Amino acid sequence: SEGVTVAELADALDVAANDIIKRLFLLGTPLTMTQSMSNDLVELVADDLGRKIRIISPEEENSFSFYDDPSDLKPRPPVVTVMGHVDHGKTSLLDAIRHTGVARHEAGGITQHIGASQVEIGGRQITFVDTPGHEAFTAMRARGAKITDVVVLVVAADDGVMPQTIEAINHSKAAGVPIVVAVNKCDKPDANPDRVRQELVEYGVIPEEWGGQNMFVNVSAKKGDGIDDLLETILLQADVLELKANPDTFASGYIIEGKLDRGRGPVATVLVNRGTLHVGDAIVAGMSHGRVRAMLDQHGDNKAEATPSDAVEILGLDSVPNAGDEFRVFEDERDARALAEQRALKARIEEQNKVKHVTLETLFDEM
Ligand code: GDP
Ligand code: MG
Repeated sequence: SEGVTVAELADALDVAANDIIKRLFLLGTPLTMTQSMSNDLVELVADDLGRKIRIISPEEENSFSFYDDPSDLKPRPPVVTVMGHVDHGKTSLLDAIRHTGVARHEAGGITQHIGASQVEIGGRQITFVDTPGHEAFTAMRARGAKITDVVVLVVAADDGVMPQTIEAINHSKAAGVPIVVAVNKCDKPDANPDRVRQELVEYGVIPEEWGGQNMFVNVSAKKGDGIDDLLETILLQADVLELKANPDTFASGYIIEGKLDRGRGPVATVLVNRGTLHVGDAIVAGMSHGRVRAMLDQHGDNKAEATPSDAVEILGLDSVPNAGDEFRVFEDERDARALAEQRALKARIEEQNKVKHVTLETLFDEM
């Protein structure tokens, strides 16, 4: 059987094996040291010993979810993605938001592109992730990457609902992510923010003031109007979600962006989902591994640690990971390397199989 043996459990709980054997006997299931126990029995015995245990299945481990005791969870900032139709002002809005943050907190500071940025409003943080497009968002989601708590849907008030607006709504709904609507370009003479509201009703995005679930904010990215209001609305939406994570464990999360920098080598922007990432940590990201040599924020300032919902650029990986790859910190660098190598090997085998398959098909096609 594949279960945990009595001896293994004793070892894991750091108790005498005899103590476990005694309890098993009292539970009516006499077992010896080398016999394995069902998961239920393991939990029962552990409970009996005043210990909480949860068995994680291989599937669960592969799906990259971790168990946290609810009492270890602490509030974390929201992670936001801006979506919308081309030219409706996504880039301008992010710029306006960044400008607000920079102007207020680091006068004169220059933000650089790291694929994500953090702003602070009223002492609270919001992390904005730049997704290169809707396709990337979908691809990341398909791989199980949880990179967004809230979607800000940008709709130009002079243009209304367009095909990519609808696409963004569908992606957000499929991912179960709430939508905050930023009705942009309200400075334009032909802007009609109410029409945008009416049009969106048809797609199930209904303003709160009309009895729906969605918060709307009129903005002008160009003039900077309504930006504070939008940030406060995002925080309101985040409050509803009661976002939490365990900061006191090994860090894990996702790669937002990876690139090869001529001077600095492989550079990756990571979003921390859980735990705290430190300089010096042994890390695996997809098929890359290494030790975190340096961590930088969007202003290029060094950071010693990154907590849940923080996005930072890291140096020290041996190769460039892909956007959407998970990352994970290990206690021992050897474990990190082993996992990265195992993944690389698996990818090579899959690649080889694919090549063979194509060759075979091509062969048949030619016959
Ligand atoms: P994106 O394709 O969604 O990233 O849109 P951009 O941010 O590149 O904006 C597209 C165009 O709309 C640019 O020419 C912007 O200057 C303009 N634009 C964006 N926001 C506003 C706004 O609030 N008011 C006005 N009048 N123009 C805007
Ligand atoms: Mg753009």
